[in-house]
Amino acid sequence: MKDTYTYRIGENLYLNLTNRCSNRCTFCVRNGKETYEGYPLWLRGGEPTAEQVISEIGDPKKYREIVFCGFGEPTYRLAELIEICGYVHAAGGRTRLNTNGHGNAINGRNIAPELSGKLDGVNISLNAPDRARYEELCRPQIGNAWEEVLGFARKCRASGVNCWFSVVDCIGAAAVGRCRELAEELGIPLRVREMIV
Ligand code: SF4
Repeated sequence: MKDTYTYRIGENLYLNLTNRCSNRCTFCVRNGKETYEGYPLWLRGGEPTAEQVISEIGDPKKYREIVFCGFGEPTYRLAELIEICGYVHAAGGRTRLNTNGHGNAINGRNIAPELSGKLDGVNISLNAPDRARYEELCRPQIGNAWEEVLGFARKCRASGVNCWFSVVDCIGAAAVGRCRELAEELGIPLRVREMIV
């Protein structure tokens, strides 16, 4: 079976650039799963090139948004992500990144200026109101992961990137409330989404 580099859900086209991730979230849609929404998202034959993804996108105006979101953290493929964004914008489409917020640690530099102007929206998974809860829920494979998320969000905001935090409602109302306070302190919007099972 051919690997899934792009997949359609509703009016959006999603891009599955990598299976690498710096978290092992307890709630991840890939846990114990071969597919998501019927699409096999494990990349058995390796990660796609930007050219392969671009050829599958075709005309991005056919979709509401082109979203970087698959079975892994897209910022591992920063160069390809930027190249694909350039193509999508030149062809009149819109781009969004769903990220765990570890992109600066993954790439060893502040990547926010590189995202500016390339992404129309960046959804940063906050997931937890404090470090201890984050470690428990997301089981990060890098050090200071929760602080990385906050730092990435600050840098995105400073670079004028349209970004917001997201949390999954399964963390409970009290934790969501504390996330909301934290997001307000940082001046970054918070979106609460339902858990996907
Ligand atoms: S950051 Fe995203 S892809 Fe990575 S383990 Fe968590 S939910 Fe899954």
